[in-house]
Amino acid sequence: MTANKSSIRDNVTKEFGKPTRPSPSANTHYGPHVTKVPPSIPPCPSKEILEKSRACQQKTATKEKTPLSYAQIASNVANALKIKEAFPALPNKKVLEMHNAAFGQHTNKAKKVQFTTKGPSRKQAIIPVHNDLAESIMGDASTYVFQINTLLKNVKSSMHSEFIRPCSGGIAIITNEVPNPSDLSIIGNYFKSVEGINSNDIPSPRLLQSKSYLKITGLPYLRNDGNKITSDNITDFMKHIDLFENVSLATKPRIIKASPKSDMAIIWFDIWDTQNGSKAKLLINHSFNLGRHIAIVRATNMNPGVPQCHNCWKWGHTTFLCQAHGSRCQKCSSPHKLEHHRELAWCCKANPKSNPPRLKTAQGTPCPHPFKCINCKGKHMADDSKCPFWRNRFNRDWHSKKAQEARESKANSIRLAVGGKKL
Ligand SMILES: [Zn+2]
Ligand SMILES: [Zn+2]
Ligand SMILES: [Zn+2]
Ligand SMILES: [Zn+2]
Repeated sequence: MTANKSSIRDNVTKEFGKPTRPSPSANTHYGPHVTKVPPSIPPCPSKEILEKSRACQQKTATKEKTPLSYAQIASNVANALKIKEAFPALPNKKVLEMHNAAFGQHTNKAKKVQFTTKGPSRKQAIIPVHNDLAESIMGDASTYVFQINTLLKNVKSSMHSEFIRPCSGGIAIITNEVPNPSDLSIIGNYFKSVEGINSNDIPSPRLLQSKSYLKITGLPYLRNDGNKITSDNITDFMKHIDLFENVSLATKPRIIKASPKSDMAIIWFDIWDTQNGSKAKLLINHSFNLGRHIAIVRATNMNPGVPQCHNCWKWGHTTFLCQAHGSRCQKCSSPHKLEHHRELAWCCKANPKSNPPRLKTAQGTPCPHPFKCINCKGKHMADDSKCPFWRNRFNRDWHSKKAQEARESKANSIRLAVGGKKL
């Protein structure tokens, strides 16, 4: 581990430059020793006086506000004067009320950053398993629910499982109440004992976790070799910096330039966290060195991005909330699952009438035909990172504009179909 760490340190030094050693006097100031005469101790006040002063302090603490800036006062006055001009007969008190209703009051309250999601219901046990295993478990979901419930009944647990659904990175066992540790271990041990499932493939079930949204500033956008800093670089250095010990990333870090002409980067990253964001709190406002750079972690407002449904592959809703009647194929957007594409897609079926006549795609060979993205109609899979929908997944405005365009074009095609005119 130490050898690994030092090689990483060498790499980091190569990529980001040699660290400059700060002189010890730079951050520690040893002033001359001054002996002070201790102040005389005032006589002890009576209990009654102490209580009165405490109550008074609390009152002023709640009432006290930070003073407004001149610009804020000027803007408040100008707005109030406008109302007075429009309604000269109105008493001043009413003018003030109207002003506050229309413009709100300029206050110095700093906006609180909401960096941790509360998350959906915690009435579920998550088992992170690989995709194939999740598929196979879903194939027999009703049996698993029945057997889990029998085991829970045997130990007289008040919790029971309602159904199982796939979730990102595994399966979720939906329950009637928040599972306690013993319920979780019963569920975990059950799946480990199922014939045909390798017990090593089943990690301990866990409760649904919240996500905290953070960012790192103070790092350059380009590395020393002139290449852009990548999310792999970030995940790599996080593994070797003590501050990020016990931090598990929920998504790959995203890197953007601090501003179009800046040479500095902002790195956005999400971590799995407790509901009160305790892991994020250990990181926020803490600095660390990367090469000679000093980076700092900041809280950032939640931006979970636009979800993509893994059933119909449209954007804007999660798989769990999908209203579509059946699954769509990521390759051709027809109503079949991806694994049935070769048998069911029109492109892979034999068509002697087409010019030139098309042969059936042979069994075991992948579809050689161009794909069609359900969202942008491009020649790629619906969940391809090349898709503009995917590239804009954190841009909610872009997605709502696209959704609006899709609604308008659908309305137009219906209007045309019934003989009306295009708008
Ligand atoms: Zn859907
Ligand atoms: Zn298909
Ligand atoms: Zn095909
Ligand atoms: Zn696309």
